[in-house]
Amino acid sequence: MRFTDDRYAGERQQFDLAIRLISHEARTHIICALTGFSQDRIRKLYTTYFRGPDGKTIRRQRGKSPANVAFFVRNASVQAEASTLVYLFGLFGLLKITDRLDPLPRGDCSDIVFGESLCRAYETYTSLYPRTAISFERSWNLYRAVALRKDAVLADCLRCGNIYVQDALALDRAECPPCRLNRTRGTTTLP
Ligand SMILES: [Zn+2]
Repeated sequence: MRFTDDRYAGERQQFDLAIRLISHEARTHIICALTGFSQDRIRKLYTTYFRGPDGKTIRRQRGKSPANVAFFVRNASVQAEASTLVYLFGLFGLLKITDRLDPLPRGDCSDIVFGESLCRAYETYTSLYPRTAISFERSWNLYRAVALRKDAVLADCLRCGNIYVQDALALDRAECPPCRLNRTRGTTTLP
């Protein structure tokens, strides 16, 4: 009985996470990796739970996830949102940020717990901004960029000391998004 209960609870957790990821328009390969469900099972979830009365399903992302770090620093506003997301990854236990500002992945949790924490971090981010520039897919890419690939880094602003996200290959002006915004505004308003 106990085995059955545990198995049911485990499947329920997988199912709930899959539904949550689908609602965030995560790509199928991410949902498979985090829930352990097969592609076929996920396809069935789409058609069973996300088909509207007009027969249309929620937008299903296909192909490879976006992996362009330049997107996160394209302007001060997106860069501020990306920096917020990385703070949230730390707050929800997905990263451990060292004293040297090196974000290390937390490898001590299951894929399901990781997926739930990623959803919580992303949902908190979307609750903080009225309109968000970073999709769930891109937030997954941002996590991988800072924690695994290291092609995005955390830097501290030379002007004010804020910690922010920067492209590892950028010619860094060493200024955080608010200082970047102030400088941009200053140059546009001055003759
Ligand atoms: Zn600054």
